[in-house]
Amino acid sequence: MSLYKQYPLSVQNNLTKQKEQFEPLSEGKVGMYVCGPTVYSDVHLGNVRTFSSFDIVYRYLTYLGYKVRYVRNITDVGHLVGDADEGEDKIAKKARLDQLEPMEVVQKYTNGFHDVMQLFNLLPPSIEPTATGHIIEQIEFIQKIISNGYAYEVDGSVYFDVKKYNEDQPYGELSGRNVEDMMSNTRELTGQDQKKNQLDFALWKKAQSGHLMKWSSPWGEGFPGWHLECSAMSTKYLGLDFDIHGGGMDLKFPHHEAEIAQNKGCSGHGGAKYWIHGNMLTVNGRKMAKSEGNGFTPEELLTGNHKLLDRGYSAMTVRFFMLMSHYASTLDFSNEALQAAEKGYKRLMASVNLIEKLPAAGSGNVDQTKSAEFKGIIEKVLTDLSDDFNTAKAIASLFEVSSRINSFYQNPSDLAVIDKAIFDETIKHFRGVISDVLGLRNEVVGGQDAEVLGGVMDVLIELRKQAKFSKNYALSDKIRDDLKEVGVQIKDEKGGEMSYSID
Ligand code: AMP
Ligand code: ZN
Repeated sequence: MSLYKQYPLSVQNNLTKQKEQFEPLSEGKVGMYVCGPTVYSDVHLGNVRTFSSFDIVYRYLTYLGYKVRYVRNITDVGHLVGDADEGEDKIAKKARLDQLEPMEVVQKYTNGFHDVMQLFNLLPPSIEPTATGHIIEQIEFIQKIISNGYAYEVDGSVYFDVKKYNEDQPYGELSGRNVEDMMSNTRELTGQDQKKNQLDFALWKKAQSGHLMKWSSPWGEGFPGWHLECSAMSTKYLGLDFDIHGGGMDLKFPHHEAEIAQNKGCSGHGGAKYWIHGNMLTVNGRKMAKSEGNGFTPEELLTGNHKLLDRGYSAMTVRFFMLMSHYASTLDFSNEALQAAEKGYKRLMASVNLIEKLPAAGSGNVDQTKSAEFKGIIEKVLTDLSDDFNTAKAIASLFEVSSRINSFYQNPSDLAVIDKAIFDETIKHFRGVISDVLGLRNEVVGGQDAEVLGGVMDVLIELRKQAKFSKNYALSDKIRDDLKEVGVQIKDEKGGEMSYSID
């Protein structure tokens, strides 16, 4: 039986505002679109959080046995400074400042983005389309919206007619906004405005003289509006109706709202069935953003070279830190939280590395109750993940498995009574969830492999325990062997006190 039938998934659908049972449109298959980066600057940790949240969604759906087509775009045109319809294109501006071709800017920051994704062990999407690679599709999309009466052209630019659209279907459903309220809160149009209404948004903008990124269209030379690319590319690769659309919470309005309106205005189909939003990474309660000056680049994070950082943290520590909260909650950065994550990550990996050292399970009289109870812990991990991808809860349950592994190591007789098939199945999922779902891997820390460090830590914990309970303890042969293996030299083991050094 597929794992997704055993552990049915529920997701918080921001379109319906309900937590719903996840049922893909086509049995066993999932189409997912996630808004990607605008490639005009280095990504900061806030961006990484959103992409990590959807990395977990992608990984977990795959783990459950779904065949997933994951599309995440690269925005390389049309995203204007200020996120609205006026102002310079973010990429063109960077190109002007750095005296580069816009496509050099795009390539540079796309490469940088990929490097960061790799550093934090995020899987690449199945398709990574670019906005500039889909100009024809975007023009065709606009033509359909115009012919359906939901867009109008003014002097070489085309705008989506929100008021007209709202007469036929509600605009603002996703973000819970009401057109009348929004209208009363926007400024009056002046004679210079091209839009009929302040809420209207650009589908195509006429290129002014000197504009660098422009294409021919039925309305003259210009470029697509920012929201359009995601409508054109998601439906091209996933169909008019698909399963999941994701992005950061800050994109809900206007970007995602506009996407839904464009889709319906074009074909009558709204696009995604489930809308999922990742919450923000904050610093002292404020959204991490380049403009706020509170955004660390991954390099600053690794080296600790930033005024908000006490020291550097490894990529897996940072990944673990993000997983310790649910994707839909805000996550506040702090050095203390990163230090706690570092400990947690090491503890978890140490127990993964300890598995190999365990004796065989089920070598004694198998106790079915204890076996079932052990199995229950990993079932809880998967149930937690199936509860709207709750990595925070799943990690707490994983720690329970982890402490069982540690105690099996210390008391092999406890393992002897666990059914071997159950033990193997539990460990398979324990390892699988940690590496395939959470994307955690052993990493080289300060020249030493975390596997070795994990081993050292375990042995040291054991040594401390023994020292505490017995004044004249003798180290068991097993501990001695393990110590030797991980390079720990015992210097003095008299009088219940000991000192040790690590090679
Ligand atoms: P951008 O490149 O600005 O379009 O942003 C790329 C993605 O990062 C979007 O999905 C944003 O929602 C997301 N994002 C930006 N700032 C943060 C933050 N502080 N925390 C989490 N996600 C963020
Ligand atoms: Zn988008």
